[in-house]
Amino acid sequence: MTSDVRPAGPAETDWAAAEAAIRAVPTSAEVLLACHVSPDGDALGSMLAIGLGLRWLGYRSVAASFPEPFEVPETLAWLPGLDLLVPPDAAPSAPALLIALDAASPDRLGPLADRMVTSSTIMIDHHVSNPGFGDVRLLDPIGAATGVLADELLRRLGVPLTRPIAECLYVAVASDTGSFRFDSTTAAVHQLAGRLIAAGCEPGEISRQLFDTRPFGAVQLTGEVLARARLEPESASGRGLVWSYATLDDLSLHGIRPATLESLIEPIRSTVEADVACMVKQIRTDEWAVSLRSRGGTDVARVAVGLGGGGHRLAAGFTGRGSLDEVVGKLRAALG
Ligand code: MN
Repeated sequence: MTSDVRPAGPAETDWAAAEAAIRAVPTSAEVLLACHVSPDGDALGSMLAIGLGLRWLGYRSVAASFPEPFEVPETLAWLPGLDLLVPPDAAPSAPALLIALDAASPDRLGPLADRMVTSSTIMIDHHVSNPGFGDVRLLDPIGAATGVLADELLRRLGVPLTRPIAECLYVAVASDTGSFRFDSTTAAVHQLAGRLIAAGCEPGEISRQLFDTRPFGAVQLTGEVLARARLEPESASGRGLVWSYATLDDLSLHGIRPATLESLIEPIRSTVEADVACMVKQIRTDEWAVSLRSRGGTDVARVAVGLGGGGHRLAAGFTGRGSLDEVVGKLRAALG
């Protein structure tokens, strides 16, 4: 244990309640795992790790899903346990147990959140903006990844760290810590990584898949997105804003999938003249997924929540509606 003063994650009673909620479900019953729309490595990795763990415990009917578009990003298409995935419209409608993973609010689960009405629900998450939902809540508002909580739950359930489970958890933690670079990378996170490597993970190979694999079209689009980035030093109360965007036309021109855009915020946020970095990605004609990052001086979770989204203090997002200019205008106003 470290001597860090930090807000408490789940209490002992929460862990006990989660374990009891799972043990109360017969192994013949349906269990549905759900993670947030446009899943990242933490969402998919923690969900599949729990799914594989439940299988190891003998659960015969475990399904995992996420809202449309039902597409696994290419960087995660090799994950163990992908056979647990079912499209949202094929997911069981009244499972005995619903486990929500990495979703900061029920609406991030899309239509899958409907099951919360009738199914016992365990929520496992680490977003500071999470208002709390579900019957049992394993919420660590400053935890490095949902995968850290998934590891602890599996440990308490007596599930061994098999290589497939370890790979899923490694992807979860490596994704959400930016490959062990973010402030959330504690000693405990490195100790977890050590256990996962001891269980058979190959960090070099996983990092190549996760961070260094993209189609040539994405490499070209990265160049265009960086070239059109705009720096507004006066925005965010003078702390500076840098932003860029990608449209649906960009995607079709380069023949790449929307998930490929997720990493584009990374080169943008290295801009030293701007505390806030923003990447605006078109979803539909008048709908945009907006990613926000701060270099430390701005609580972008607060900004995102004000615009209908959520996230972490230094990494958050929201869905913007209207033209590109309108969406960026609203963001500028919210940043002050
Ligand atoms: Mn996460």
